[in-house]
Amino acid sequence: MSGKILQVEGVSFSYGPIQALDDVNLHVDQGEIVALLGANGAGKTTMLNNIAGLLQPSSGKISYRDKDITSWEAEKIVHDRLILVPEHRQVFSTMSVLDNLLLGSYHHYKKTGKKEVNKEIDKVFNLFPILEERKEQLAGTLSGGQQQMLAIARAIMAKPDLLLLDEPSLGLAPLIVKEVLDYVQQLRDAFGVTILLIEQNVSASLKIADRGYVMSHGTIVQEGRAKDLLHNPEVKEIFLGHT
Ligand code: ATP
Repeated sequence: MSGKILQVEGVSFSYGPIQALDDVNLHVDQGEIVALLGANGAGKTTMLNNIAGLLQPSSGKISYRDKDITSWEAEKIVHDRLILVPEHRQVFSTMSVLDNLLLGSYHHYKKTGKKEVNKEIDKVFNLFPILEERKEQLAGTLSGGQQQMLAIARAIMAKPDLLLLDEPSLGLAPLIVKEVLDYVQQLRDAFGVTILLIEQNVSASLKIADRGYVMSHGTIVQEGRAKDLLHNPEVKEIFLGHT
């Protein structure tokens, strides 16, 4: 692990009169899994959407691989392999699992050709064997956990350098949550993807993360190594009932 892949400096953002981000500073190093934690409405999704170019900060700077991407369009950011998997897994339910994956590789395919894409699909199927078993099935017929895996697998097909995951375990049963988070860890280990992760399951996500940030009312109130945050009494207090 070396060097910052993402740096957020003094970023603020408002929805009209509602200030959702207030002078946020955070960074992600190459190869890390970083958890962004916080209660509902703390500003986590807004932060990811600012990084991914879906929203523009009102002030501050966002750098990705040493480039100032603060005012870049979302499309350009995707091309540069910074990929967001939004909340509420958005798979194309009337398309097959395989077609969903091929769609994810669209930009990449134009550059590298079919052989490379097939190699990538094999790697993805290796990680998610259930998706290979169900590759001809319509995505909408998969279980919630499988759809989440497909959403992540589709993002992997775009060959991300940095993956932003917005609550991948939202609405999933506890056993499946663990499975999805285990996959997140394997993504870093097997594909070398750096990950910034939003999670409501605080202890489960800190167990797979290297570092974490805690947001409250649009600002970062705690940061540190995941191990330390797990045992931090203030963090426990903030998330009483959320762990
Ligand atoms: P959650 O876990 O509920 O998604 P969050 O930490 O991701 O919470 P955000 O969704 O980023 O928080 O919301 C931050 C603040 O901005 C909240 O006060 C929320 O009500 C407000 N907000 C979010 N989206 C909008 C919007 N489209 N228009 C107006 N206010 C919004």
